[in-house]
Amino acid sequence: MAVSAHILEMLKGSSLVRKMFEAGAQLKAEFGEDNVYDFSIGNPNIEPPAKFAQILKKYADAEIPGKHGYMPNAGYPDVRKSIAAWVSKEQNTAVDASGIIMTSGAGGAMNAVLKSIINYGDRVLVSAPCFMEYKFYADNHGGKLEIIEPAEGFELDIDAFEKAMGPDVAAVILNSPHNPTGTIYSEENLKKFAAMLERSAAKTGRRIYIVCDEPYRKIVFDGAVVPAMFPIYRNTVVVTSYSKDLSIPGERIGYAAINPAADDYDNLVNAVTLCNRIIGFVNAPALMQRIVGEMQGDSVDMNEYKRKRDMLCDGLSDIGYDFHKPAGTFYLFPKAPGGDDSAFVDTLQKERILVVPGKGFAAPGYFRIAFCVADKVIEGSMPGFRKAFELF
Ligand code: PLP
Repeated sequence: MAVSAHILEMLKGSSLVRKMFEAGAQLKAEFGEDNVYDFSIGNPNIEPPAKFAQILKKYADAEIPGKHGYMPNAGYPDVRKSIAAWVSKEQNTAVDASGIIMTSGAGGAMNAVLKSIINYGDRVLVSAPCFMEYKFYADNHGGKLEIIEPAEGFELDIDAFEKAMGPDVAAVILNSPHNPTGTIYSEENLKKFAAMLERSAAKTGRRIYIVCDEPYRKIVFDGAVVPAMFPIYRNTVVVTSYSKDLSIPGERIGYAAINPAADDYDNLVNAVTLCNRIIGFVNAPALMQRIVGEMQGDSVDMNEYKRKRDMLCDGLSDIGYDFHKPAGTFYLFPKAPGGDDSAFVDTLQKERILVVPGKGFAAPGYFRIAFCVADKVIEGSMPGFRKAFELF
């Protein structure tokens, strides 16, 4: 057999997404795009700010020698400098441009970081529910993802993490604001979490990294603030992108930011830079680096997502759905009426509504609604959500 047995095994695990995609394509072919309410993927529906196209045109026309050529693997120095200034504000820490490594999206950054810190067979811990690509990302570099059950309200269960700690734990992934629940971890809990990691590291002798996966940092509502992790825990790396807040996921641009206080900083910077290169990206896309270098602090209008969140939450709460109102992101993670997420998702499909079962995020019994869709999709789906609810 030509394809590796390991990848064939993985293909089985990823069939849920494929199944959703196929079901959606079939429904759209049968009923027309406008009659299918597709909440299945986090592909932002809001167009990027006009400034994005303006800067794109400027650089497309500009005569810059070698503008499409290779550059240092960590990215253009001036772009890294501009991002370092922004991250310094976000993290309330003076961040040096050397600690910013431009990557192919947050996914690329996560892979470069995990490859830099995982020894073969190491574990990487994350709280459930979670973005399931983490499992593949850890596996790419010989690691194993271990998923820890959350505390009430999808908070971090610090005791459960402490029990799972050991000398083979290379990293903990913290994703806040959180896909799929929209939770933002509080500063108080993050401090307790960091203290727990310090205790564990002292016991096991192993340095544990926190990898903060933050592509939703700017997608927050009602004045919510995402705490800065650099001042709380020194061995922290932030991985992020412009995929969600500038609505450009197809452009594959993001970065890893390394805490200047991290132990062995220079080695870590060099490792992430090398890994960025050797996992095949070589460097982040040149033109996109130039654009984001001039768009620090810009984003799509978050009032749009807030409005969509409120419209969806009001509608579903009137029907009787049980959920935590998301403080950030464009995801809602309600309980599946009846408790069986697959059965409920199948029932919604009969109403031409596409959502993802919670088991796709290691949280059976729930389902995820990505509300980065046109208002008419939310409005049009309400009768179907009601009908399905009444059947359980
Ligand atoms: N992390 C989380 C939690 C995500 O939801 C996503 C995308 O949906 C990513 C990382 C990957 O983002 P990017 O497109 O920047 O690679």
